[in-house]
Amino acid sequence: MTEAQRGAGMTSARTRERLIGRVREQGVRDARTLEALAAVPRHLFVDEALATRAYEDTALPIGHGQTISQPYIVARMTAALRTTGPLDKVLEIGTGSGYQAAVLAQLAGCLYTVERVGGLLRGARRRFQTLRLTNIVSRHSDGYEGWPEEAPFDAIMVTAAARTVPEALFAQLKEGGRLIVPIGAEGQELFLYRRRGVAMVCERLEAVNFVPLLPGEIA
Ligand code: SAH
Repeated sequence: MTEAQRGAGMTSARTRERLIGRVREQGVRDARTLEALAAVPRHLFVDEALATRAYEDTALPIGHGQTISQPYIVARMTAALRTTGPLDKVLEIGTGSGYQAAVLAQLAGCLYTVERVGGLLRGARRRFQTLRLTNIVSRHSDGYEGWPEEAPFDAIMVTAAARTVPEALFAQLKEGGRLIVPIGAEGQELFLYRRRGVAMVCERLEAVNFVPLLPGEIA
């Protein structure tokens, strides 16, 4: 077997299908979410040296001390937003590799994504172009601020762990809008908030392990 054939095997449709099966077994049953996951080639979102591990259900390093989330968690968070209301206009905080954005973009009308590390954002933008994901708009800025010029959003997903919910994000939700965010430092938990008038209804989903949400931008 040549290197190219081995590479193709690692990233083949069947390899991807196995991953979808594992995610489904762990409890994500939403068909539209699973289709979105199957449609995005995760090996293009990691370094070539890690491409053979791209369809394992694990988080992987993407440089700058950051990670691409575990596919199960990507699916879980996506399904939590997909099954609770519209996704015409969606905001992601923490673009990273761009993988979660690419999955959300399969389901969203327009996907806005914000990243504080310029080097990561440049890589993600190249991937969005390669995959012709023309409904993704990205910005190099501090996600604590959200994206006020484009608010309000149907849904907001934060893919780094905050100590407390960034206030600005609540304010940028439509009525009935959903915010999914990991909260905590050592022991983190994933929360789903829903805006009901001036109140926020909160649901705890599960224990998670994300890199921290950090203030400010860096090149
Ligand atoms: N969704 C990403 C996960 C990347 S890890 C993916 O699918 O690959 C979390 C990302 O959040 C990192 O890239 C980190 O730089 C970014 N991040 C952390 N704090 C942030 C902030 N305040 N604003 C924007 N991005 C932030």
